[in-house]
Amino acid sequence: MGKGLRRMEKLVILGTGPAGLTAALYSARANLQPLLLQGLQPGGQLTTTTEVENFPGFPEAIDGTALVGQMQAQAERFGARVLSREVLSVDFSGRPFKLTLDDGAVLESQAVIIATGASAQYIGLESEKALIGRGVSGCATCDGAFYRKVPVAVVGGGDTAMEDALFLTRFASIVHVIHRRHEFRASRIMAERVKNHPKIKISWNSLVEEVLGVAENKVTGVRIRDVVTGLKSDLALEGLFVAIGHKPNTDPFKGQLDMDPRGYLITQSTRTRVSGVFAAGDVQDPIYRQAVTAAGSGCMAALEAERFLAEHGL
Ligand code: NDP
Repeated sequence: MGKGLRRMEKLVILGTGPAGLTAALYSARANLQPLLLQGLQPGGQLTTTTEVENFPGFPEAIDGTALVGQMQAQAERFGARVLSREVLSVDFSGRPFKLTLDDGAVLESQAVIIATGASAQYIGLESEKALIGRGVSGCATCDGAFYRKVPVAVVGGGDTAMEDALFLTRFASIVHVIHRRHEFRASRIMAERVKNHPKIKISWNSLVEEVLGVAENKVTGVRIRDVVTGLKSDLALEGLFVAIGHKPNTDPFKGQLDMDPRGYLITQSTRTRVSGVFAAGDVQDPIYRQAVTAAGSGCMAALEAERFLAEHGL
């Protein structure tokens, strides 16, 4: 057991995005001294964006990393402890719950809040990775407003890509939609809106081969390849919004908790089917996926965990 860890924890919170940190703040103030496990992306998806303009209370916007840093400081002030460890597997078959960490240690806890979030899927190109946060974004709602009167593109053909493209027309000079097939997967009504929008130009049957601008340290365009003709062409862009789906981070919970077909945890309020295990934020929310909604559900999970522990005299 490392420093500050107990043989038996009262409450372990998995994830240090807005959901986990808000759950930590509330449960710490309730004197539960929660232990927060920080995974591979401390702070979560907010740290992949630059300025956050839509979190209430920051009229001048706030840097995403700074925002989660402040949330963490606030939770720590009331006694939350943070451990940088990933959870590899869990045993929720009986209490205390057992969590196996990436260093082999096994934690025991009376209650658990899962706030492991979701990860935007990216295409998987080196050039794309190099420019995440520098023009490549997985969240149009978060970053779209920074791209006023400049050309941008959305990759994908689902409802998210359609919503993102339509949203971006409010700001950008032109919105390219780059889709790998000749028809959209999105609902017809959304697809029609996109097809008929004067500011949207669609590149069908096209794969992004390279994001341009690595040398300049900002997106300057993309190289696309037509999968039918094999022809390559470049589009000049300042922003590239990847909308090819999200993946909830629920692998360690497979077989233990109920999930929808895409892997999102199924909750009632924030309760999972295992009494004493709660879930908050994007890991159980395929719809809203906002920092403020994640924070709100983190608060709810903490209140429910507090009630659960009190009811069990823990
Ligand atoms: P989807 O899985 O529906 O769509 C993903 C899109 O990305 C598909 O068009 C897919 O292409 C494409 N894609 C996947 N992988 C790659 C890749 N490696 N390279 C290029 N393209 C790729 O995800 P969404 O996030 O759009 O939607 C998720 C769910 O949420 C859906 O059920 C959707 O209906 C729902 N949703 C509903 C909304 C609403 O009703 N307002 C808004 C947003 C989402 P292909 O088509 O060839 O498979």
